Amino acid sequence: MSAEAIADAGVRRGAIRDVPGPESLRLIEQAAAQEGPAVARQPSVAWRRAQGVHVEDVDGNVFLDFSSSVLVANVGHTHPRLVAAIREQAGELLHTYNFVNRWRVELGQRLLALAAPLDLDRVFIGTTGAEMLELALKLARYASGGRFGTLVLEGGYHGKTLAASALGGRAGTLTGLGELLPGVVQAPFPQAGRPDSAAQEQAALVFLEGLERDGTARNIGAVVIETVQGNAGQRMTSAAFLQAIEAFARRHHAVFVIDEVQSAFGRAGSMFACEQFGLKPDLVVAGKGISSSLPLTVMLGRSRLLDGAPPRTLSSTHGGNPLSCRAGCVVLDILAEDALLQNSREVGALLLAGLREAAAHAGLNADVRGLGLMIGVEVFDERGEPDKDRAGAVVAAAIRRGLLLLAPIGLHRNVVRVAPPLVLSAEQAQAGTELLADAFKEAAAR
Ligand code: PMP
Repeated sequence: MSAEAIADAGVRRGAIRDVPGPESLRLIEQAAAQEGPAVARQPSVAWRRAQGVHVEDVDGNVFLDFSSSVLVANVGHTHPRLVAAIREQAGELLHTYNFVNRWRVELGQRLLALAAPLDLDRVFIGTTGAEMLELALKLARYASGGRFGTLVLEGGYHGKTLAASALGGRAGTLTGLGELLPGVVQAPFPQAGRPDSAAQEQAALVFLEGLERDGTARNIGAVVIETVQGNAGQRMTSAAFLQAIEAFARRHHAVFVIDEVQSAFGRAGSMFACEQFGLKPDLVVAGKGISSSLPLTVMLGRSRLLDGAPPRTLSSTHGGNPLSCRAGCVVLDILAEDALLQNSREVGALLLAGLREAAAHAGLNADVRGLGLMIGVEVFDERGEPDKDRAGAVVAAAIRRGLLLLAPIGLHRNVVRVAPPLVLSAEQAQAGTELLADAFKEAAAR
């Protein structure tokens, strides 16, 4: 099927044969045999090509994609303008190490203009999220005179390298690793939208006061949070609590780092999600959607912070490479020209309302929440306990109907992520909602 045909295919209900089909199964099994269980793999299908909001698997099934390849493909898959720019760049200049190239400068300038309202005036362009979080910790240590303590929020996720792992992840994921980063303090995360949210928030504030009373706060040199917790299951807390966290960082002269690897560049409906919560971080790390494709992560920070580190603290072999940087520039153009931040807010609101209604109608015990097109459907059993099997059943049923979803995430692996490309139209959102409504019904009836 041609790329145009994929785009034209729309949602073809009933056109999905068994998933995984034979070729997906063969590739997934071969990957498993080569890589073993320590390497992560989505178990559903192997991808062949993708266009816009559609993905074709290696067996010819065409899906409406609500994964965005883990919230990366913000401007849609293989956007023609993005592909044209990457093609042209590939024939001209692919890599320059830290020799300066035009696109590194261009992207840096564009990002600094976007970050100016946050008073961030320095930029570093790198490759992965975990790398940037690690470097943020180094910068914080230089800035705080070696205070090595780090305050994080329970449920945060910042990557899989050693120090990034030490900052978050699901309970139990650090077992067997021995001594990690010293001085990590995990504050409770008062989740918004729960019956006991106000009490949880009060308890979290009391926890912070406790850190000040017992002297722990004196050693905290960095405070690292996600504005919206992604891997914990698109969890949000109140703006007031996030502002209290920022105030805590300020009182203790700790570097306030916001991880927007998932939530930036329109995903949550604004350029940076933290803007919606009235936060003023010292450092923002953002990635995924910025290239909508190639490995590209950026750090935006205050000069007094970045300039305080020894020269050449920040570098990476593939950082600032012209291919990724040019892709980033084109994505910023597309986000603006196609008004995708607005689309994310508007279509996100439609999806949220539609999915809430669908869950209620299906009798699925679920908390449907989100910001922009960063939506989570947390699935519970009849007793209100996290139901990971039923969440898995929603995903499987949706995929069988032609809606591609990531495997469930969340602290209990019971959250279905709904994260389509930001180019999703209202009609496509409606089609996806109908497919999910059927999947909810099937899973609720289990
Ligand atoms: N921070 C957040 C909020 C993330 O969601 C992720 C990746 N899911 C990371 C950091 C790590 O990024 P990477 O996988 O590029 O290291």
